[in-house]
Amino acid sequence: MQVLKFGGTSVGSPEAIQKVIAIVSEKLKKNTVITVVSAFGGTTDSLLLCGQMASQGDEQYKELIQQLTGRHLNAVKQLIPIQQQSSYLSAVKKLCNEVEDLCTGIFLLGETTARTKDKLVSYGELISSQVIAAAFQSKGIATTWWDSRKLIRTNSDFGNATVNFSSTSALLQAAKQELATDHIVMPGFIAANPEGITTTLGRGGSDYTAAIAAACLDAQELEIWTDVSGMMTADPRWVPNAKVIPTISYQEAMELSHFGAKVIYPPTIQPVMNKQIPVWIKNTFAPMDPGTCIQQEGYRNGNPVRGISSISKLALLSLEGSGMVGVPGFSRRLFEALSAEQINVILITQGSSEHSICVGVDESAAEKAKKSVDEAFAPEISLQKVEPLEIEKGLSIVALVGEQMKSHPGISGKLFGALGRNGVNVRAIAQGSSERNISAVISTSDVRKAINLLHEEFFETSLKQVNLFISGVGNVGSRLLQQVYQQQQYLLHHNRLQLRVVGLANSKKFLISDDAIDLSNWKNLLDSGSEGTIDDFVDGIIERNLRNTVFVDITASDLVAGVYPRLLEKSCAVVACNKIACSSPYSYYRELKDKARSNNTSFLFETNVGAGLPVIGTLNDLLKSGDKVNRIEAVLSGTLNYVFNHYDGTLPFAEIVRKAQEEGYTEPDPRLDLSGTDVMRKIMILAREAGEQLEMDTIINHRFLPASCMEGSVEDFYASMLKEEDHFKSIFTEANKNGNKLKFVAAFHNGKAEVGLQQIAPGHDLFHLYGKDNIVLFYTERYPEQPMVIKGAGAGADVTASGVFADILRATLT
Ligand code: ADP
Ligand code: ASP
Ligand code: MG
Repeated sequence: MQVLKFGGTSVGSPEAIQKVIAIVSEKLKKNTVITVVSAFGGTTDSLLLCGQMASQGDEQYKELIQQLTGRHLNAVKQLIPIQQQSSYLSAVKKLCNEVEDLCTGIFLLGETTARTKDKLVSYGELISSQVIAAAFQSKGIATTWWDSRKLIRTNSDFGNATVNFSSTSALLQAAKQELATDHIVMPGFIAANPEGITTTLGRGGSDYTAAIAAACLDAQELEIWTDVSGMMTADPRWVPNAKVIPTISYQEAMELSHFGAKVIYPPTIQPVMNKQIPVWIKNTFAPMDPGTCIQQEGYRNGNPVRGISSISKLALLSLEGSGMVGVPGFSRRLFEALSAEQINVILITQGSSEHSICVGVDESAAEKAKKSVDEAFAPEISLQKVEPLEIEKGLSIVALVGEQMKSHPGISGKLFGALGRNGVNVRAIAQGSSERNISAVISTSDVRKAINLLHEEFFETSLKQVNLFISGVGNVGSRLLQQVYQQQQYLLHHNRLQLRVVGLANSKKFLISDDAIDLSNWKNLLDSGSEGTIDDFVDGIIERNLRNTVFVDITASDLVAGVYPRLLEKSCAVVACNKIACSSPYSYYRELKDKARSNNTSFLFETNVGAGLPVIGTLNDLLKSGDKVNRIEAVLSGTLNYVFNHYDGTLPFAEIVRKAQEEGYTEPDPRLDLSGTDVMRKIMILAREAGEQLEMDTIINHRFLPASCMEGSVEDFYASMLKEEDHFKSIFTEANKNGNKLKFVAAFHNGKAEVGLQQIAPGHDLFHLYGKDNIVLFYTERYPEQPMVIKGAGAGADVTASGVFADILRATLT
């Protein structure tokens, strides 16, 4: 004999019921079958709603009953040949009338009891099972309808009754003796107490009915047919990448279902486990899929973690006080106070200091718990030996489940590491000594993110998803998008990195998308985005709360540089091409670095110095490995280099500057480059990275630009440069006469930084520097005479974008 249970969706429409009939018919070729069915999907909720509306005096429940009646009559019409329909139609109508009568009673009384509710919801399974049995009959499949209320015996705990196994077993076996057909249909979920009053087995209870029937009748197998292809590594509604678990042990399945895997109602496993009956989870809509087999030993695939679950609507109750230390009986009294109110404890932790006990209960029970516990400890509370019970709501549990976790060290480390890196605060932790389950209590707002990132950590070692939010889509920004677009497949295949751009912003508009933004069409998509400020963009990023988030600033805006703290506090990495933050007062630079560290995230700005050249990364590597910087000498302005490499007195200086700007080698206001301010910022950032608390006003700048050039607009600047052409020419002639080249040099030595135009002689390291190249010389303890040299293009959109790209990749590896 086999027991098959079909859930709400599996019997949710006449088409689905046809599939059920096909599945069962196949089984009947070899075996006797008991088919346990749920109510048509959603019916239990609708019936409960009818009862609630009626009890509140809302007559609209009548409409709801009409809809339910229509749905069930339609099922009869679709499933049963017309000539046989009439008796079934009237049977359904009769049952629906009973529902209506019951609701009229509730309406008149203005209240419902748990007993009445059980009676009311029982009609869902009563009607569905009779319609389905009739459908089998009409297909020529001899079928007996069993009334679960006569066979499943419970106590009188309405709403969630306890089954009396010995009488149920006797009743079921007796019924089997008298059986005249190979096929039985019986309603799930419903039962009756010894007086014959209808009870139910709790929401989702049809699974349990099927398990009880299987256990009492020693079935060979129990099959739970539902709308997913098995028990999965995580709830598929939350984790799109969840995978079907091929085999799992009873214990693990029980643990996963207790911790929220709705696919099986938790009590289901126990009776079949006792009898060692294998349970299959199968998909009614994809019957060829293998499904999950639940049995004594799960198949070991090397992964000690079998699945991830969560429970929401949890409240933590903390009982604290110095009077509890070393005094026996406190826990007993706490749990007695909770059990007196029938409050179910989901999780318990107690620190070894014994100063506090913390329990997790359903949020709805929190107030009741507080009243009861505070009363129980009233004497101690009045003596201030114990604090009144503290309640914290809005929490959830995420749990890792797996039988083999006990023999694998490092799993909790990985769990908490992954949560920590993503800014998920853990409020309490519990691990049973069976080590089959590690639970962390976190804020409900973090659950989706946590489950996804844990799933990635334990089941998708082959893939890491990174979510990019990019602010600034100008020259460098658009190149970056192009590079990311080009590299996405490569990174996926070679680095197992799924790099998704999910947010874009310019100064006017922004776009945040649940799915990856199509980078071949980002301009149009951003154009149709929302109007808003950078703060709106950041609000959106924080609200999404995605795992592995990287915010990329490719603007030159101080407003954007001002939002980094908010992001870092949420453990979003920040990659800045924008130099403003790092060249702000030291305290802000320090704050950002500290925030990144304390939130386990990254704040990276390699492109602040030398564009794509690995200057800051190299400096950090030297320092981290114990080297000390004695001196830095550098040519850090691609712009100035370009200008002095091209200026030879034939074309006016102003024209060379304009060409540099046209080719995109200058800041939007070229005076920032020409005045040396940009170079000051860069040497300051290098000095800061080397450990010096430098500020801009302590850096000496030997300016070569006459003061007159600094006034007015950018156009005034070009005009005044023309006027000063003689000044520039004489600087050039002087150097040329000596056989030297002009370089704008930045130096840091002995805690001091200075910048200025210098004549460089042919033998010098800085002499051979062409185009827009930059060079940095690090003189350190390990490189005392011959410096470490980093040299190459120090400006340009493509190289800068690739430097930003490298920072993004670095941020994702932490
Ligand atoms: P039925 O009506 O067939 O009893 P349920 O809705 O009770 O179906 O349970 C199936 C649903 O459980 C799935 O549609 C899925 O969304 C949800 N679910 C939650 N966690 C898991 C999990 N770990 N594996 C599979 N399904 C899960
Ligand atoms: N119909 C019941 C419910 O929705 C039982 C079940 O479907 O398992 O809870
Ligand atoms: Mg279910």
